[in-house]
Amino acid sequence: MPSLCSLRRISLLLILPLVALTCMTERVRAFNERDVLVLNVVLPAAFAAIRAYHKGENPEKAALQAAFGGYLMHQGFKMAPTLQEKSAAKAWQAKCMVNLGASIAESAGDEFVFRMDIGPVWLIAKNGDIKIRPGLNSVIAPAVHYLEGSTLDFERSLRYGTMAFKRSTNKDGTLNGSSALAYSNANTFTTNGTGAHAGHELVHTFQYRRDSMYPLRVGNFIKGFDEYLGDRWVDDTAWSINWGLQCSWADATGRSKDFDIPMEKEAYYLEKRYHEPWR
Ligand SMILES: [Zn+2]
Repeated sequence: MPSLCSLRRISLLLILPLVALTCMTERVRAFNERDVLVLNVVLPAAFAAIRAYHKGENPEKAALQAAFGGYLMHQGFKMAPTLQEKSAAKAWQAKCMVNLGASIAESAGDEFVFRMDIGPVWLIAKNGDIKIRPGLNSVIAPAVHYLEGSTLDFERSLRYGTMAFKRSTNKDGTLNGSSALAYSNANTFTTNGTGAHAGHELVHTFQYRRDSMYPLRVGNFIKGFDEYLGDRWVDDTAWSINWGLQCSWADATGRSKDFDIPMEKEAYYLEKRYHEPWR
């Protein structure tokens, strides 16, 4: 039976060529439905198959379960850009679908564990036992938004099921002290007082939940880190590492971090494809 270490190495080997493939295409290609399905369904299935194979479980069964979870996630992602105009119930429905789908996918080939991010903490349900644990990234991100001058928008946080902040704007509509109209950091986002572009930022918070199932976490790069964290914290750093890598690639190749990186292209694609134009 291969060790956990070799399992991690294999998972990383799988993800690196994928990152490279996405990033090394000559021209910046438009994002399409196939790319979204690869991210939501194909990748989780591939990871589940590898994990199951190394645990001596049935890889096909695990891949099928993960693909089903991925499809649920996909449905939640499609709802994200429309949630600005929809009810809070719809927003929570989308969030629950993404979290349930991601939990089904990451549990494939193992016992089922439901994990859901709610603000700075994660709810972890396993064997009828529910634990609440802080996430490394989900605790740091709101603190960063505070430090950057945003204030918590309690009403919108409750409505979207994720920590929403607001900030005053400049004459051109950009947020004070920033060149962005709105921005997100992992599970958290800041908009202007009217909540403009919240639908786009929600896609990023869903990406945060999806990325949390992948081995691109700090704990996979620093020896002994997982053991140090133990059961006290959730290592939810994958979104930030993914974003950091994509931004470094954009910097190195003279591309735009706001438009050309795959994470942004996915958010813009979903907005365009699933947001009815008359709204
Ligand atoms: Zn964005």
